[in-house]
Amino acid sequence: MAEVADKVTPVVGLEIHVELDTATKMFCRCRNRFGDPPNTNVCPVCVGMPGALPVMNRQAVEFAMKVALALGCTVREFTKWDRKGYYYPDLPKNYQISQYDLPLGEHGRLEIPLADGGTKAVRVLRTHLEEDAGKNIHDHPSHTGVDLNRAGVPLLEIVSEPDMNSVEEAGAYARAMHRLVRWLGVSQANMQMGHMRFEPNINVHIERDGRTYKTPICEVKNLNSFRALERTVAFEISRQFDEWRADPDGYTMEKLGKQNRGYDDAREQTVFQREKEEAHDYRYFPDPDLVPVLVDDAWRQRVAGSVGELPLARRARYTKDYGLGGKEADALTQDAPTGDLLDSAVAGGAQPKRCANLLLGRGAAIANERVCTIAEVGVPADALAELAKMLSAGEITASSADKVFTELAQSGGSPRAIAEAERLLAITDTGQIAAWVDEAIAANEKAVTDARQGGKKQKKAFGFLMGQVMQKSRGAAQPAEVQRLLRERLDS
Ligand code: ZN
Ligand code: MN
Repeated sequence: MAEVADKVTPVVGLEIHVELDTATKMFCRCRNRFGDPPNTNVCPVCVGMPGALPVMNRQAVEFAMKVALALGCTVREFTKWDRKGYYYPDLPKNYQISQYDLPLGEHGRLEIPLADGGTKAVRVLRTHLEEDAGKNIHDHPSHTGVDLNRAGVPLLEIVSEPDMNSVEEAGAYARAMHRLVRWLGVSQANMQMGHMRFEPNINVHIERDGRTYKTPICEVKNLNSFRALERTVAFEISRQFDEWRADPDGYTMEKLGKQNRGYDDAREQTVFQREKEEAHDYRYFPDPDLVPVLVDDAWRQRVAGSVGELPLARRARYTKDYGLGGKEADALTQDAPTGDLLDSAVAGGAQPKRCANLLLGRGAAIANERVCTIAEVGVPADALAELAKMLSAGEITASSADKVFTELAQSGGSPRAIAEAERLLAITDTGQIAAWVDEAIAANEKAVTDARQGGKKQKKAFGFLMGQVMQKSRGAAQPAEVQRLLRERLDS
């Protein structure tokens, strides 16, 4: 890009739709659940029967407030519901209940981690609550089915300012928002179930010979994975730059206005859909069937009190107070309960680093097998703390601790009782270890010669002899003691 322009800056904003994890829908008492047989969670309200009256779900408003407050948004005292008109088969009322000019939350920010270890604040323009549409099912050759189970599910829309300037920043923002809503417990944010959808708007600012050119802003609809989002943004940046280069005075925002594009997953590119509709096309007007929402101070403060420490702040605390590395801190702040588990074990007197090693070693491996979070592996904080303390005291070796952890995850119990029953307590009996060391030395003449000779082979031979002794002890000998005795014998 450099040879034809002085400077090229991608500009990306993101609209994110998040399905909230309430028991029931936004304006009726139908169950809010993914995967039920089509049209089993429906009623006159959510299928849009004339005369059926909606009633607001208070829990959904609270969840939306929680996100708004976590983002540092101002939460309005007075909000209302508006009808946004459009015709689509999966929206039988022919309008969506949304919030137009008085969104619940406004003017917040989300800190995102950058590759260089720093952070960047992306401004949030607004957050508002609305209802999801149903789903068209195209699995039959002769007709299209409509499943209205999703119609009326509470949907939080979060609109950012165009503050992201690269594919990486757009991806980091989407991931940070995904982590936040899960952290706050307001959404399962399961991408496969469509709980979170992205709509980036993208253009490119190009400086050349003292002039700034802006390409048309393109909005891409309904992306449901981080990968699709990142590919779309990357594709659009290079496509728009190429189109501009072919026609620098024609391919501009001024001349062409905004556009809607769709993402073709199979071809990994975007295709033109239509010129972008403006707000007046939707014929917004206040919904006469719903009363406005009044958020008083007491309610706002109660919800604010439930927000707690946010992921990035906790990550910083783990590196600063616990001395964990950035990657470890990151892995332990993927969800709140895993971090809570670490915090409780540390509060119980265990060393943070020992706990982190256990959680990110066997803990993460088991979580991976079971497809769950580390906390959901089910080892409680007091057991974790006890095991970590046994490690610190040299009562158990790291490999035996892994076995105990696995047993705790399978059947629970006390780490000490498990270690005793399975004869995993570290062998500190110097006489016993010395006997094994002597056996290993007697049986491995070649390794002993190498280990005594020094040079390249020494380290390997020493490690081999260590391994022989550890094997004889079934992993229970204290490695430091084995090392000391082995060195002593070899030096003599
Ligand atoms: Zn319903
Ligand atoms: Mn929306």
